[in-house]
Amino acid sequence: GGDSYGVLPRPCRALVLLNPQSGAGRALEDFQAVVQPMLAEADIATTVFVTERPHHAHEKVRDEDLSQWDTLVVMAGDGLLYEVVNGLMERLDWEDTMKKPLCILPGGSGNALAASINHYAGNDHVAKKKLLTNCTFILCKGLHTQMDLVSLSTASGKRLFSFLGFGWGFISDVDIDSEKYRRLGNARFTLGTLQCLAKLRVYQGRLSYLPAGHSALPAGTDAPGALPSDSLLVPLCQPVPPHWTVVPEEEFVSVYAIYQSHLGTNLLMAPAAQLHDGCIHLFYLKAGISRVALLKIFLAMARGTHLDLNCPHLHYVPVRAFRLEPRAAAGIMTVDGEALACEPVQGQIHARLCRVLSG
Ligand code: ADP
Ligand code: MG
Repeated sequence: GGDSYGVLPRPCRALVLLNPQSGAGRALEDFQAVVQPMLAEADIATTVFVTERPHHAHEKVRDEDLSQWDTLVVMAGDGLLYEVVNGLMERLDWEDTMKKPLCILPGGSGNALAASINHYAGNDHVAKKKLLTNCTFILCKGLHTQMDLVSLSTASGKRLFSFLGFGWGFISDVDIDSEKYRRLGNARFTLGTLQCLAKLRVYQGRLSYLPAGHSALPAGTDAPGALPSDSLLVPLCQPVPPHWTVVPEEEFVSVYAIYQSHLGTNLLMAPAAQLHDGCIHLFYLKAGISRVALLKIFLAMARGTHLDLNCPHLHYVPVRAFRLEPRAAAGIMTVDGEALACEPVQGQIHARLCRVLSG
């Protein structure tokens, strides 16, 4: 409801976490040329923290006193925001800290959350400098609202928090294989898709889910200070509860659970998704799909019309929770575009766990 909205104070103090290696390597230049002049006009003072290595932003937001900042801004790709979210969730005071609004400014090659927020705000579909300008304008306006996160648990005991999506198979392969083309910016995904199409593979495993229609969102009844509990999940060593659906087929080309509208700047995968819809939008592609049909799906995703193709191999279901049990440690898994070792994983939605600048 309307009570979920807030506005940044003025003057406003922003900590900007910037990855100079993101995307085509121009994040710092773009920040100074495009972002800083606009923020100065809006009375938003910035302190820039330039990351020197992977995990640097994670440690920074996990360990430091953040009380002097009104907002944490990430000028990078989705990967750096993923570090920030997980660093914040490791803090003892995570519950208070997660009330601090986060802002994403597209500086990477994978800018899915920035593209999604631009879409939710009702702006035209744009990329590159125009997307950066739109997202900076959203920060200048200062309106923020809540965003759902998904808690993921792996068989080896990892617990991760994700704001964008979890994937396995084709789409994750494209994401990771195309890392070597990151200097091309968003075009890396087009090139990667064509390359992965050439060596199309089938992945074996079991997929189960809790459909969104069948359950209310669980109420938060956690002990103060404890991490939010996954009340919809049972341990991975036990079978899924009887009211879950188990997909009968066990051969997939890809499984992708997305919780934002865009998978990339040109990929409108879940047109119905919203920042706090309490939903995981689960897509899976069954084995047997032809290369041509798969290419058609990816081309249609530019406009979000892939479900209109009525491809019998493509399935979509809104869920609250899911479990994926790969038969072998085959294929790449990704969380918010970052690689994860292939192993059994399950996840559930946690409604409104953080806040983002949203226009
Ligand atoms: P892109 O969208 O281009 O992938 P991201 O911001 O998602 O850009 O960053 C990709 C990865 O780079 C993340 O895993 C992050 O941890 C890592 N990273 C952050 N800072 C640096 C740095 N200074 N040098 C190299 N890698 C970094
Ligand atoms: Mg990335």
